[in-house]
Amino acid sequence: MISFAFTDEQEAYRAELARYARTRLLPAYRRRAESTEFSWEAHKELAALGVLGIGLPEEYGGAGADSHDPVTLGLVTETLAYGDVNVAAAPVQSGLVAAQLAEGGSREACERYIPELVAGDAVSGIAVTEPGSGSDAAGMRTVAVPVAGGWSLTGEKIAITHAMCASTMLVYARHPGSTRSRGISCFLLPMDATGVTRGHMPGMGCLPLGWGSIAMDGVFVPEENLVGEEGRGFASAMHHFEFSRSALGLLCLGAARASLDEAARYAQQREAFGQKIAEFQGVSFPLAEHATYLEAARWLCYRALWARQVGQPHTDLAAMSKWWAPQVALDAIQAAMKIHGNLGYSCEFPIQQRFRDVMAYLVADGTSEIQKRIIARAVLAKTVN
Ligand SMILES: Cc1cc2nc3c(=O)[nH]c(=O)nc-3n(C[C@H](O)[C@H](O)[C@H](O)COP(=O)(O)OP(=O)(O)OC[C@H]3O[C@@H](n4cnc5c(N)ncnc54)[C@H](O)[C@@H]3O)c2cc1C
Repeated sequence: MISFAFTDEQEAYRAELARYARTRLLPAYRRRAESTEFSWEAHKELAALGVLGIGLPEEYGGAGADSHDPVTLGLVTETLAYGDVNVAAAPVQSGLVAAQLAEGGSREACERYIPELVAGDAVSGIAVTEPGSGSDAAGMRTVAVPVAGGWSLTGEKIAITHAMCASTMLVYARHPGSTRSRGISCFLLPMDATGVTRGHMPGMGCLPLGWGSIAMDGVFVPEENLVGEEGRGFASAMHHFEFSRSALGLLCLGAARASLDEAARYAQQREAFGQKIAEFQGVSFPLAEHATYLEAARWLCYRALWARQVGQPHTDLAAMSKWWAPQVALDAIQAAMKIHGNLGYSCEFPIQQRFRDVMAYLVADGTSEIQKRIIARAVLAKTVN
C-alpha cells in the first residue's frame, strides 16, 4: 500500500509555517533579497519556530526524538520558500552542516557549536569548492598538515554560501601527498582563527546568503575539530549532499509555487481583448502544465528524502531531484513572469527576484551534468547482463 500522506504533526507544523511564510516572510522578501546582510531577524524567528533544531540531538538543543528527519526538513524548506527562498535555505544548511557535525564531531565541538546554530545565534557552512576544482571535488588542493595538537590548513575555497556571515565552516582538506578522494578530511574551522581571510563574491541573486571565498594561510585547527574519520571526509560529504540535493529541489519548488499562485491571481484580474486573460488557453494551459511539473517534481524529492529516512539507497533519486526540480521551478517562474507581462520583469514584483535566486541552484551543490553522470551510472549498472 502506498501512502503520500504526511503525519498529523507534520501537517500541523506545515500549516503554522505556511502562515508564517505568507504573512511574515513574503511581504519583506524583496527588501531582504536586495541586501547583502544576512537576515538575522528572520533567522532568529526560524529558531523560535523550532526549524533550526530539526533532526539534531536534544542534548545540544535540537528537537531530538527522531534524530534523523529529512522528510520534515524538506517539508519545512518547501513551505518557507513560498515566502522567502533565501531565508528558507536555513533548514537545508542544518541538515547538511549541523547534522554532519552532530554525527561526526567531537563532544567538545558539538557542545560548543551546535547550540548556537540551533538558537539562530550563529550560522555555519560547508567549504568544498576551490578555484581549480568544483564539479571535480576530489581534485581539491587545500592541505591539512599534521602539527602538534591538530592540523595546519592552507588553501583557498570559493563560491561558499555563508562565507561572509558564518562563525564556523566545515572545511574539506587533504593530507599532504594524498590524491583524489583518499586522504580528504573534514575540519570545523572557526572563522575568526588567525590566518583566515574572507572575500565577498557578489552574485546575481542569493545576496543575503553571504556568498564568498575563504583563504587559509597556515591556520591551526585543534584535534577536537576533526569531523568524522580522518582521511574519509569525502565519502561523508557525498552522503550529506544526498540530503541537500532533494531539499534544495523542494526549496526551488516552493518559490516556484508562490510565483504560479501569483500568476493565477493576476490572470483572473488582468483584462485584454475585453476579457480576463485567464480565459485564454494561451495563459491557463501554461498554468496547468507548470502546476503538473511542480507536483511531479516535489514527489520525486519527497521520495528521495523518504528513502533516506528509511535507510534505502537514494543516490540516484537525490541526483534526479537536484537536476530536475530546480529546472522545473525555473521554467515555472519564467512562465509566471510572462503571464505578468511587463510587470513580471519589473523589480516592483518578487518574481524576477525568485528567478535570480532559484537560478543559483542550477549550479550550487552540483550542476545538472554532474547529477546526470550519477544517474547514468546507476541506469547503466542496472542493465549489466
Ligand atoms: C550560489 C552558489 C552557492 C554555492 N555554495 C557552495 C558552498 O556552500 N560550498 C561549496 O563548496 N560550493 C558551493 N558552490 C559551488 C558549486 O558547488 C560549484 O560551483 C559547482 O559544483 C560547479 O563547480 P564549478 O563552478 O567549479 O564548475 P566546473 O566544475 O568548472 O564546471 C563548469 C561546467 O562544466 C561542466 N562539467 C564539468 N565536469 C563535467 C563532466 N564530467 N561532464 C559534463 N559536464 C561537466 C559543469 O556541469 C559546468 O557546466 C556554490 C555555487 C553557487 C553558484
